[in-house]
Amino acid sequence: MQIKIHNTLHNKIEDLKPINENEVLIYSCGPTVYNYAHIGNIRAFLFADLLQKVIKVVGNYKVKWVMNITNIDDKTIRDSQIGSSAWLEEMGEQTDDLKENLSKFTKYYEKKFFEDLKIIGIDSADLFATPRATEYIDEMQKLIKSIYEKGFAYPSDGSIYFNVNEWRKHDTYGKLKKIDFDNFKSNLRIDSDQYDREQVSDFVLWKSKKGNEPYWDFTLDGKNFPGRPGWHIECSAMEEKLLGLPFDIHTGGVDLIFPHHEDEIAQSKAGFGVEPTYYFCHNEFLEVEGEKMSKSKGNFYTIQDLINRGIDPMNIRFALLSAHYASVFNFTFEGINSISKGRYRIQDFIYSLFEENYGEKSIDVEIIREKIFSKLADDLHTPKALAEIFSLINSMSPNELNKSTKESLIELFKELNLIFNVWNIEQKKQVEVEIPDEIIKLADERIAAKAEKDYTKADELRNKIAELGYLIKDSKTGYEIIKK
Ligand code: AMP
Ligand code: ZN
Repeated sequence: MQIKIHNTLHNKIEDLKPINENEVLIYSCGPTVYNYAHIGNIRAFLFADLLQKVIKVVGNYKVKWVMNITNIDDKTIRDSQIGSSAWLEEMGEQTDDLKENLSKFTKYYEKKFFEDLKIIGIDSADLFATPRATEYIDEMQKLIKSIYEKGFAYPSDGSIYFNVNEWRKHDTYGKLKKIDFDNFKSNLRIDSDQYDREQVSDFVLWKSKKGNEPYWDFTLDGKNFPGRPGWHIECSAMEEKLLGLPFDIHTGGVDLIFPHHEDEIAQSKAGFGVEPTYYFCHNEFLEVEGEKMSKSKGNFYTIQDLINRGIDPMNIRFALLSAHYASVFNFTFEGINSISKGRYRIQDFIYSLFEENYGEKSIDVEIIREKIFSKLADDLHTPKALAEIFSLINSMSPNELNKSTKESLIELFKELNLIFNVWNIEQKKQVEVEIPDEIIKLADERIAAKAEKDYTKADELRNKIAELGYLIKDSKTGYEIIKK
């Protein structure tokens, strides 16, 4: 089926036309590993996961998916410094080697990140590569050199900056965001990794070493610039190395549109001579109780925080998928609870499909499949796809369906679960409970009463058993006792 997706480059929904016939190349801006991922970050990664799953299952393509690990930036350096209060006992001892501290610190959070992905139903085996920024310093330096040699970069105070004004003579700066150049201050330089989203300035490609920071030597024009990469250059270098340019789709949260992705386009075009990607796709933010998440407001949650409050991570996944990725998601505890009921309703329907009770009714499952898949193909519209699923389960009782319809529906839910990944597609497992002797005795008496055709007594015994909390289900081979 043809996949359509919102492309921020043209601000419209477009047909996905991959470069290769059978394979879609995706790069997702990954986590900055200086802390546990919060549920807003998780929304961004779930969006990328949803995209790659829909492309595979609905679009029938193979996918090469790369997600980088930002293990060097202002925050990772700040928090891994000697004496930092963010250093945890589980990370081991700090040493005098600053690179080693940075590596220990970030690997700790990287591991936690992959654990969180697993908990939330993202299989890291789906990722073709998860490059760590510090392992691609050579590629970053080569790219900076190329930008510099073409005249779009200049050194200042030991750092190297991208020259936006010079670049504008050559190509557009502002492909993702309309930029008001009247307020553009030429030669205003910004060297922090994350900066004001409204401010346009020359941005840093290579940052000079400050104080005790970890650093790499970098010779440019015969001069050494000891320092480390800026944040934006990391992605440009890694995507070129691992996917080649241009690749198909670049994902990230809306906060990355400017400056991060705008700067990526400028750097890649200036250094490699090609645009990085044909489609930029961005997820909207997750808010908590209508407010931006922040530690100071006390509304900042990690996956583990929610698990500690008794929330099943599959309900988090289902809730996040029940909203369209491009609308703001308002997280509330009541909201999660009520949305979860929908997941359980679908789960019960699936369990009933496995029951060997059949009726006469037959339905065309292919038509239903087309309807659900067409919603997913249309800019990943999970809420509309779920509405189709609910309309299916509300319109019938599974046990009135014939065997082949039930089997086809099981196949359909198997396929859907390759995307939603929140249901058990199997027979309901009966929890093994010890049935008390008293109940077994009553059940045997009931069978004896039935054999003597004393149905009044048999019914009385069934009611007594029910009052004691058990249900009797007659079967061809005898009976079964189930705890209510
Ligand atoms: P970071 O680790 O800060 O680089 O962010 C990782 C990803 O999470 C990026 O794609 C961000 O755009 C995204 N992100 C950060 N905060 C939120 C949020 N509250 N809601 C949705 N996505 C977010
Ligand atoms: Zn990035």
